[in-house]
Order: sequence, then structure tokens, then C-alpha cells
Amino acid sequence: PAVVHGLTRRFGDRTVLDELDLEIEPGQFVALLGPSGCGKSTLLRILADLDREITGEVEVAARRAVAFQAPRLMPWKRVWRNVVLGLPGRPDKQRAVAALEEVGLGHRVDVWPKVLSGGEAQRASLARALVREPDLLLLDEPFSALDALTRIRAQQLVGQLWQRHGCAILLVTHDVEEALLLADRVLVMRDGRIRYDQVLDLERPRDVADPTFVALRADL
Ligand code: ATP
Ligand code: MG
Repeated sequence: PAVVHGLTRRFGDRTVLDELDLEIEPGQFVALLGPSGCGKSTLLRILADLDREITGEVEVAARRAVAFQAPRLMPWKRVWRNVVLGLPGRPDKQRAVAALEEVGLGHRVDVWPKVLSGGEAQRASLARALVREPDLLLLDEPFSALDALTRIRAQQLVGQLWQRHGCAILLVTHDVEEALLLADRVLVMRDGRIRYDQVLDLERPRDVADPTFVALRADL
């Protein structure tokens, strides 16, 4: 669902992405790590087609969906309308309800976004992405604003949704443990390129105390 070759993005005289290459296989769950400011969000925005001031080749599945760190819900539309916003045809409430039920928000269908807690808003934003039935789901630190327990639940939810929908996921995160627990491939970006690329051949559910895990962590 994504092939990137020689991708370069400059801001002024600063080269943030420098001839970057990346290929994501169908159904692959890829975690992208890297120091703050290295260009992770920039890459995601390009894959989401929100930024075209680039050189190089970028081919991305037509069906893609994005969920950002801060859920972008329209405050003047009820939650279910937000979920199906922008889809062709008349707003399909049943479809929205099904997606909201899938993320555990069946009871929040008719409320206004401002009523939602942080974790609920994040799940609504996931429902909004899933309803598009993407081949590639782009997630930019979707859990970082959540408290520890809500984060664990949201991580489990994304893991389940991935197994059920079988779409490829590119998850940007600062959390090494999260990357190792969820993804089946881990990337580290530095100086404008992917400098580490490791496929994880681990059973699920995963245990952070597992020796393989500890070794991988050290390897990063
Ligand atoms: P973080 O982990 O902190 O979210 P990141 O890896 O996502 O960081 P980006 O947001 O991609 O980093 O930013 C990479 C670099 O590009 C930063 O130095 C940032 O200042 C710069 N940058 C991003 N967007 C713009 C812009 N619109 N104009 C100018 N510079 C930008
Ligand atoms: Mg970022």
C-alpha cells in the first residue's frame, strides 16, 4: 500500500527527509520511531497526501485513513456525523453506529464531540478512520495524550482492529514498548532516512520481559 523512493522534503534550507526509501507490505503493522523533530509526522503527512512539496516517488493506496495525536472532530457535528463525514452519498448513520460500536462507543453515537473524554475522542477518530475501510491506516502518536490505563486499552483495541481488518498500519510512536508489542516491523528514522528496519518474528500476545524483546530493545 505504500512505496516511497528517494523522497526528499525541505523546509527552507533544512532537509528533513533526505532521499528516503520505504516500502510497506499489505497488512503489515509498521511502527516508526525516531527522535523528536526527525521528520516522522512530515513523512506521515506526505503519505496522507496532505503535503505535496516533495521530490521523489510516492505511491500510496488510494484507500488510506489518518488519525492524529489530537483527534480532529468537528465540534458542530454529532459524533456519528463526524465518523461518516466526507464519505460520498447521504450520511449513513447505521454505518457510523457499526464503526462506533466496534471501538466501544455505541453509547456515544448522538452526543457532541465536546462531551467525549480524551480516550473516547481518540476512539471516535479511529472509528472515523476505519469506516473508510482503508488499505493503509496512518496513525501519528494516537495514544500519547492518554492516561496509562486508557492507553493500554487503546493499544489493545488497535491490535484487535488490525487483526480483524487486515489493513496495513503505519504507527508513529515515541514508545519503544508500544512499538515492540504491537508492530510486526519496527523502523527508526534519523537524519532524514530510515536507519533501522527490523521485522519482528514474535508470537502474540507479547511479553515485554521476553529475552528476544530485551535483545531487540538493546539493538535499537
Ligand atoms: P515529533 O516526534 O516531535 O512529533 P517529528 O519527527 O514528527 O517530531 P516533524 O513534525 O516531521 O518531526 O518535523 C520535522 C522537522 O521539520 C522539524 O524540525 C520541524 O520544525 C520541521 N517542520 C515541519 N513542518 C514544518 C513546516 N510546515 N515549516 C517549517 N518547518 C517544518
Ligand atoms: Mg510528530
